[in-house]
Amino acid sequence: MMKVAPEILSLIPYQPGKPISETKRELGLTDVIKLASNECPFPPSEKVMRALQAALLEVHRYPDGAGFEMKAAAAKYYGVPEKMVSFGNGSNELIDLLIRIYCAPEDQILTSKGAFIAYKISAQAARVSTVETPMTGGFGFDIRAMIQALKTNPKIRLVFLPNPNNPTGSYVGKAEFAQLLEATKARGDVLLVLDEAYLEFVRAEDYPSGEAALSSHPNVCLLRTMSKVFGLAGLRVGFLLAQPEVIDLINRVRNPFNVNSLAQAAAVAVMNDAEFIEKVKRATWEGLDYFTHELKKLDLDFVPSQGNFVFFDTGRDAVEVFNQLLKKGIIMRPLKNYGFSTQLRLSVGLMQENEAAMKALREVLA
Ligand SMILES: *Cc1c(COP(=O)(O)O)cnc(C)c1O
Repeated sequence: MMKVAPEILSLIPYQPGKPISETKRELGLTDVIKLASNECPFPPSEKVMRALQAALLEVHRYPDGAGFEMKAAAAKYYGVPEKMVSFGNGSNELIDLLIRIYCAPEDQILTSKGAFIAYKISAQAARVSTVETPMTGGFGFDIRAMIQALKTNPKIRLVFLPNPNNPTGSYVGKAEFAQLLEATKARGDVLLVLDEAYLEFVRAEDYPSGEAALSSHPNVCLLRTMSKVFGLAGLRVGFLLAQPEVIDLINRVRNPFNVNSLAQAAAVAVMNDAEFIEKVKRATWEGLDYFTHELKKLDLDFVPSQGNFVFFDTGRDAVEVFNQLLKKGIIMRPLKNYGFSTQLRLSVGLMQENEAAMKALREVLA
């Protein structure tokens, strides 16, 4: 018999949002609205479509393995030197690579309970275990507990901090973030990975600057993605902004053509499409404000969100509510895999989709 590591045998894969086609098939529905994966609800802009069409003519060639133009566009967009940029097949690949580079099987990563689950899954696939500090009462991160773990646990190599967090929409403010930065710096053998997938949607005034942390602290790196406000989830592009030494290590271990040529072309085009980005941001804020208004009317608890989604408490078994909503053609996201049994996560869609979602929710809870 082939030997397989127990960490691999017990691995529970990432559970994506339920696809529209599957929901239609299983329930015999023709109209289905998916608000389950925090995607951008708008299709690609004209600019992106033109870039994709041009790139289609070249798909018989390998992509640019160095991602020259994409890297230049990202460096310009994020305001960092090109030598501080690398890229992955979605930021998910970069999470994998960071763990592969920095953690041996006996090492550990640190994150919070209720944090984005991809870190823990990537770690387990690399036979690396995850230390999770408890959440605070308001579904936030307990930064003091994280600092305590850093002080007492020498096995920790990477700290994953999604800010704002998915699925809760909560965020870590300036003061607490500064404390965590200092604790990470004091360790020297630990890298803080700040995952800012929802950065563009943040409205909180005391949200800490990742760029400032990157320039003042050598053991900080930032994850950015093209999957949310940029609307390219299907193409899989993420960026790592880090010290050149970290970037060099990523470039050694990543596959030579990890981001395909269509994805590279679209990423360059959308980073130059300020109008599209602005449109998505505005529609998201409008949708989010609508959701919070409606959830209040329904007297449901929710976490004020800094993302493009809202985490709310249905007050009953959330899988039940999820299934009832499915029958009405609305896909939300149950969070049992996070240990949240009464909460659902709802992504902002187009306004008519948001309204349909709230109508269905009202009916299900009535
Ligand atoms: C959606 C999301 C990402 C993006 O993942 P990709 O692989 O780039 O699509 C990263 N981090 C968090 C916290 C997310 O919610």
